[in-house]
Amino acid sequence: MTAAQLDIKSLITDVPDFPKKGIIFKDITPLLANAEGFAKTIDMMAEPYVGKGISIVAGIESRGFLLATPIAYRLGAGVVPIRKKGKLPRKTHSASYSLEYGQDSIEAHADAFAPGTKVLLVDDVLATGGTAKAACELIGKIGGEVSGIAFLIELGFLDGRKKLPGQKIHSLVSY
Ligand code: AMP
Repeated sequence: MTAAQLDIKSLITDVPDFPKKGIIFKDITPLLANAEGFAKTIDMMAEPYVGKGISIVAGIESRGFLLATPIAYRLGAGVVPIRKKGKLPRKTHSASYSLEYGQDSIEAHADAFAPGTKVLLVDDVLATGGTAKAACELIGKIGGEVSGIAFLIELGFLDGRKKLPGQKIHSLVSY
């Protein structure tokens, strides 16, 4: 692990039993509020994708938006929000994923980008991988190509990568 990665970990706070008992929530707000830590995070998350022809960065609601937007700016790409159902005003495509009890779904505008577009998917945390898997399906339904997936944090013990076979995944820090 590099010194920069250690710095980043020191700005991520563990919050036990949030939002419910047994979950250790990774709070990234101290990192986002630290000018140097934030800049370093965005530069390092974007770095593997510089010059790779990415023209859209898709961020997953809501902390994914805070990372996807500056990464898109850094890559000279546009940004597309992947939202919880019912939030987008025009025609959407959707994809569902399992929760502990039942299902939920995410949506993006059906015309969010042109077919064949190279898309980088961004979120804050890779946990079980269900959300990112649904987001990849959604990008596929719109006709995009997922060129990579960038996470700030990977919870390796949950094996989320298993749900994302064949995807090029970069995470900045792992636990
Ligand atoms: P999953 O679909 O299980 O990979 O969960 C990923 C989504 O849930 C991401 O959008 C995260 O924001 C959120 N998430 C899951 N686990 C955590 C955690 N321990 N701390 C913070 N966010 C989490």
